Amino acid sequence: MKQELEALHRESLERRLRTHVSIPESPGYVMCGERVLLDLSSNDYLGLARHPAIIEAMRDALLKEGAGAGASRLVTGNRQPYAQLEKALATWQNCDAALVFANGYTANIGVISALVGRGDVVFSDQLNHASIVDGIILSRAEHARYRHNDIEHLRALLYKFRDKRRKLIVTDTVFSMDGDQAHLLDLIALKQEFNALLMVDEAHSGGVYGPRGEGLASALGVKNDVDIHMGTLSKSFGIYGAYVCGSETLIKWLMNKARPLIYSTALPPSLIAGAIQALKLVQTEHWRRKRLLAASEFFRSSLCKAGFNIGNGDSAIVPLMLGHNHKALQFSSALENEGIAAIAIRPPTVPEGTARIRFSLSAAHSLEELTDAITKICRLGLQLGVVE
Ligand SMILES: *Cc1c(COP(=O)(O)O)cnc(C)c1O
Repeated sequence: MKQELEALHRESLERRLRTHVSIPESPGYVMCGERVLLDLSSNDYLGLARHPAIIEAMRDALLKEGAGAGASRLVTGNRQPYAQLEKALATWQNCDAALVFANGYTANIGVISALVGRGDVVFSDQLNHASIVDGIILSRAEHARYRHNDIEHLRALLYKFRDKRRKLIVTDTVFSMDGDQAHLLDLIALKQEFNALLMVDEAHSGGVYGPRGEGLASALGVKNDVDIHMGTLSKSFGIYGAYVCGSETLIKWLMNKARPLIYSTALPPSLIAGAIQALKLVQTEHWRRKRLLAASEFFRSSLCKAGFNIGNGDSAIVPLMLGHNHKALQFSSALENEGIAAIAIRPPTVPEGTARIRFSLSAAHSLEELTDAITKICRLGLQLGVVE
């Protein structure tokens, strides 16, 4: 272990934990050591993580329900707020039923391993989140990876595996490290043609897209063509947890078959009560989505004009491509010196040779704060030879 850790260190691939301290009076900032940093790395897209109504709902539930749920949901852990949240989620998504999981990671491994097994096949975009990859491995189904957003490659694989028992196509709707979108309309056409199921992971689009933040599938008007709709309560909702929405049968099946749900203690009821409140805000406070959208467009176009390579996404996730691991670390630490928290993302989270800074924007930030950040990023880009 020591030798391999030293090798990781030499290749600028070592990861370490650092302590960040939140600042109650300054949402959108964190402290690290002595420094106050503009937080351009968290996924609190709508700026809800410090919302007083959510905190109040959590505190009330904490006093009423206690600290922990005490048991799995199928034992005695299914406390009162769960039913209310799941009903509200199903109504929001306009589907039969919803099921809350402990987090996005276990939702994905739980759902995929419950739906497919030996003799089945999962078609998965090469850039899908690690939890999807782990779910496929755990399921023991055949793993057919298609090149990122390459619909013709997917078609060829669907044809190759057309005789498998069950076929599942799974995709992030907004890719977490690139910020671009899946081609949902094409995926739906293929799923229909080859009689496959379609699962979408809306971790980065839930709360952000759609008239009431339902997600990208709703925004594109194809919600009813998606069989399994998964999203998280940890990003736009500002709390923790995840949901899966779909048919009555799907949800019943998952209650009976999804092992992370069955064999793990229920989330504390206070989190669930907070999520109920967060869902109300997600649906009604449209100005947060508008503000996030404006911030994303402004930030992207400014970095693009300055000559940075920021890929071809159009979401609140903005990757600044640097290539070398060392360069990414260097850029990140220079940004930190300038008062900006922007974390370097390196392999294996992203493919070899594509290390980057991943900026994520939030409705918590003003355009003035972003303008200041952009000025600093541009200056460092010149200094470090990233742009000319
Ligand atoms: C963050 C993320 C997850 C995991 O969600 P957690 O609630 O943080 O466990 C799953 N899928 C995608 C695409 C994500 O970005």
